[in-house]
Amino acid sequence: MNALPDELRVRCCVAGGGPAGMMLGYLLARSGIEVLVLEKHADFLRDFRGDTLHASTLETMAELGLLDELLKRPHQKINQVRALIGGDDILLGDLSYLRTRCRFMTLMPQWDFLNFLAEQGRRFPTFKLRMQTEITELIETDGRIAGLRAKAPDGSLVVRADLVVGADGRHSRVRECSGLDVKNVGSPMDSLQFRLSRLPNDPDRMLYSDRGMTVVTINRGDYWHCGFAIPKGTADAMRQEGIEGLRARIIQTAPFLHDRVTELHDWTNVKLLTIRADRLKSWHRPGLLCIGDAAHAMSPIGGVGINLAIQDAVAAANTLTEPLRAGAVRDEHLAKIQRRRALPTRLTQRMQGVIQKQVWRGLGKAQPVRLPLPVRMLERTTLPCRMRTRFIAVGFRPEHVQTPKN
Ligand SMILES: Cc1cc2nc3c(=O)[nH]c(=O)nc-3n(C[C@H](O)[C@H](O)[C@H](O)COP(=O)(O)OP(=O)(O)OC[C@H]3O[C@@H](n4cnc5c(N)ncnc54)[C@H](O)[C@@H]3O)c2cc1C
Repeated sequence: MNALPDELRVRCCVAGGGPAGMMLGYLLARSGIEVLVLEKHADFLRDFRGDTLHASTLETMAELGLLDELLKRPHQKINQVRALIGGDDILLGDLSYLRTRCRFMTLMPQWDFLNFLAEQGRRFPTFKLRMQTEITELIETDGRIAGLRAKAPDGSLVVRADLVVGADGRHSRVRECSGLDVKNVGSPMDSLQFRLSRLPNDPDRMLYSDRGMTVVTINRGDYWHCGFAIPKGTADAMRQEGIEGLRARIIQTAPFLHDRVTELHDWTNVKLLTIRADRLKSWHRPGLLCIGDAAHAMSPIGGVGINLAIQDAVAAANTLTEPLRAGAVRDEHLAKIQRRRALPTRLTQRMQGVIQKQVWRGLGKAQPVRLPLPVRMLERTTLPCRMRTRFIAVGFRPEHVQTPKN
């Protein structure tokens, strides 16, 4: 086993090995830039994480020549997304409308995707990934972030870098240490996350909403990863009702699950996801850039957080590769990345806010839902479905890989 040096120097140190950090690490290493990614966990295996790879991410993988290899990993291809809202069966998305290379999205466990990026990154000598290494502090010298401190099982570590990138997610330690101001976008609801078995003849819808309740069901092969929306701050009151209360609500909203809700033995099978939506006012300081959820925590609505994180990483690599190579990263490079990515982030959060408001208005209402007649009429045309598909699968301002392969 290698003795770990307690002080390292690299061109770029990326804090956090999620989709944003791993993609940025991969892209920089692919262009021959020395990059170190630090991830606090020992592996990528964590449950209840986002696992939708939309057309924009698949397009990026195709541009990198990695798509065929990626699609050899276990995944489900989704061509259409359907929902049952009250009595109305709605086609939420139809990927065949897209003009992208992949006219589908995939559901792939996030750990498989991250392991894949790690394996691909390791093919380049300038890619370093250290697991079980948790960032604790930033190092500041003369008003510039000059590195960070981290703790690992075998001791503490100091990393000095020309650039530190905070990609450590929605509870970002880097963001916390940076002093950068956060704008809270707010979310009126939280979500209870759990899994239930999936049977071969189950309906293939992704959302059920009625009588003020919404259940999201994500196909993970032999089980459904489910989310049950609740008004913010009401989880404790629900827990006090006992698990039977949640089971009954699930059956009312998605009756096909009636024969397996007892798999939720008690509340230990249910995880509370506190939905948080915010963004940094400035994503950077001299020597430091934040991307992905560290720059803008995304609500899980639409399942677009991974894709935004990947797009941020592509935009960051496009702008930073040459300055990093030259050892000349300046504030204006970092500002350029924020300028490019702030608008898609704001627009996406606004759209998520509109959808959240619709769900929230219905939460707790006892009467059956019926979509208003004009909405039902509009849903008979392809327009709303095309717009939703474009927003979710491609997003605003998709990025293209412009960095060279070394
Ligand atoms: C329950 C849930 C369901 C979701 N569903 C979807 C979905 O279906 N599709 C979708 O696109 N998005 C979904 N999202 C959102 C999506 O997961 C995130 O937007 C996306 O993962 C953000 O990527 P990221 O790389 O910026 O951050 P993260 O994925 O949060 O990665 C951050 C990484 O940094 C590590 N880290 C944190 N702190 C430290 C530290 N101090 N030191 C070192 N490492 C650290 C973490 O362990 C983690 O690996 C969901 C989110 C949640 C919570």
